Amino acid sequence: MKKISWVTHPQYDIPLPKNHKFTSSKFSDLLSELEKSGLSEYANIFYPEKAAISDLLKVHDRNYIDKILYGTLDPAEERRLGLKWSPELSNRSFLAVNGTLLTAKLAMKEGVACHVAGGTHHSHFDFGSGYCVFNDLAYTSRSLIEDKIISKVLIFDCDVHQGDGTAKILEKNNDIFTCSIHCKNNFPARKAKSDLDVELEDNLDSHQYLKILNQTLERCMNLFNPEFVLYDAGVDIHQNDELGKLKVDDAGLIKRDEIVLQFFKSLSIPIATVIGGGYSKNKIELAKRHASIFKAAKNIFLEN
Ligand SMILES: [Zn+2]
Repeated sequence: MKKISWVTHPQYDIPLPKNHKFTSSKFSDLLSELEKSGLSEYANIFYPEKAAISDLLKVHDRNYIDKILYGTLDPAEERRLGLKWSPELSNRSFLAVNGTLLTAKLAMKEGVACHVAGGTHHSHFDFGSGYCVFNDLAYTSRSLIEDKIISKVLIFDCDVHQGDGTAKILEKNNDIFTCSIHCKNNFPARKAKSDLDVELEDNLDSHQYLKILNQTLERCMNLFNPEFVLYDAGVDIHQNDELGKLKVDDAGLIKRDEIVLQFFKSLSIPIATVIGGGYSKNKIELAKRHASIFKAAKNIFLEN
């Protein structure tokens, strides 16, 4: 049986106070959901090693890396990050950036691969923000380019929030194209400038969303023509998401992922996926939404 490579790690979950907006067990919840639904039968599982400080310096400031390593963020920095520092948070942050890089390397060989985490796009050069410690999308794309594995990377970010950290870190990189489709009236209040920003009004439904998605895919190809794609499949575009303001339903969500995967598959451009954001008090519902991208990958790459 043909399978799709997934990257995960048992140390991805983080301890958080009860009722925190970020679901502390979201990574293991998602893996359980993927097992329950039978999707994991179609997966080969891989585990990343922790990123070295020397590698993280490609996209982050040494002092900031040390603050995460040693737990010396001040209270204002922790508030901006939205997460309290813990040894587990530090450990998972060094693992997860390399998780996305490993996913990308597997996708290069196999056409597609999926990270059961990733999409920490609000992380900036020298500070964390919006639950994002290190920027896996910037780190992965820079690593692929610097190691001469690939020469043109598209970061296609469909999380409901703008990929501001990614855009800012990579603003001078002409070999990496950042595209963010996001809700205009949502975090971050002050937007960065991506190579292509598509701003959505509140309450957009599935039909309207998918139309804009298709147009944006075409625009990315016309403007850039990538050799490789990093896809942030954030599920906070869903109508029941606690932080999103759009009205995309379950069918629209999986359709979005299928459209993106099919688009690049038909052009023979390899694609690595990350789960991005998603917020709900109902952990099972949230895990089911995040499972969409894994189901879409199976539908497009194993059944077509
Ligand atoms: Zn988000």
